[in-house]
Amino acid sequence: MATTKSRIPIRKLAIVLLILILSNFFGGSLLAVYYNQVFLWILALPIALSLWLVSLRCPRCRKPIYKKVKVVFGVTFTYWGGFNPIPDKCDRCQFDFGKIYQSKDAISVGSNKNLEQRG
Ligand SMILES: [Zn+2]
Repeated sequence: MATTKSRIPIRKLAIVLLILILSNFFGGSLLAVYYNQVFLWILALPIALSLWLVSLRCPRCRKPIYKKVKVVFGVTFTYWGGFNPIPDKCDRCQFDFGKIYQSKDAISVGSNKNLEQRG
């Protein structure tokens, strides 16, 4: 419990964010419908959380986890989302989003500029 940084797996963070987004969205909507339209301001929270969610990146190769690339007949398509709201692993570097990223997992993708210097 004495860790300075709380490091949780991307997959867990995505699940927590999804639950928060849904509960705030429905909670805020219900309050606005039944009580007061002032509660519509609560909906700003799930919107902000959604932006955070879609900006989540693979900790290893920095690719946004909801950005998918598919090659069909030699043509590359890039799209956001997909059928699975919580991806299991990175589709570029196969990093398991259920795991906590550690420096030993590092691979060199493209540039070596932001590699940590240790020792
Ligand atoms: Zn990756």
